[in-house]
Amino acid sequence: MPREHDATFRVGVGYDSHQFARGRALILGGVSIPSDVGLDGHSDADAVCHAVTDAILGAAGLGDIGEMFPDTDPANKNSNSITMLEAAVRRLAAAGYVVNQVDVCVVAESPKLAPFREHIRASLGAALGIDSAGVSVKGKSNEGMGWIGRKEGLACIAVATVKGKR
Ligand SMILES: [Zn+2]
Repeated sequence: MPREHDATFRVGVGYDSHQFARGRALILGGVSIPSDVGLDGHSDADAVCHAVTDAILGAAGLGDIGEMFPDTDPANKNSNSITMLEAAVRRLAAAGYVVNQVDVCVVAESPKLAPFREHIRASLGAALGIDSAGVSVKGKSNEGMGWIGRKEGLACIAVATVKGKR
């Protein structure tokens, strides 16, 4: 008999990437960041929100952002990714889970995220229903290597822990 896993405390991982494009806004974690280039995508292309959404859905075993918000659905065009994250938080609540904590790593050559870190933590925390102490945001360069190094786009990795409501 396999041992039943402890469903009161679960971990999820999320990954997202978007291509840079001129004439688009750069929005990360719901925060508009001044930049010559923004991110291309069906929605507002907020890679931080998308990775965090996948991490919390994954932690709760509730599928992924693509299932919840298909990019074939015109309703999701240019949609606000904070709103999508909030909807995922509500789906977790309905399944008996609350978000405990998230850790986010943005991999990009530019812009530097440090000046916006606290704002992004507060924005994500508000959407997740936790204080910003439970939200970590880190920026990393890719040391000039590969598509990120050539500034073709950026990537984001997020890890989340969720607790079962008992
Ligand atoms: Zn995305």
